[in-house]
Amino acid sequence: MDCLQIGTCIFFREYRKYDERKLALVGLAKLYCKGPMQRDCIRRKLGMVLGDQNKVPVNMMPDGQPLADTDTSDWPEEVMIKMRQSS
Ligand code: SF4
Repeated sequence: MDCLQIGTCIFFREYRKYDERKLALVGLAKLYCKGPMQRDCIRRKLGMVLGDQNKVPVNMMPDGQPLADTDTSDWPEEVMIKMRQSS
């Protein structure tokens, strides 16, 4: 079963428009959104903890790391605290 957020996940919505990102996104989707690591998705867990998926930084990958060529400098303190608490 696919992740229930697959149609609305802002990470995929935002980055699928970039051709150079598509291959990486397909791999991540296979592994997380449609695959065996779905329950391990940090975006999904963090969205539940924060009470709103839209509070999860757009450039956070399912493994909790920033997408290549981006960083965590825009991630709100609330997100950083919850990430530290859950690790
Ligand atoms: S990245 Fe995570 S929250 Fe988004 S669709 Fe994939 S599994 Fe669901």
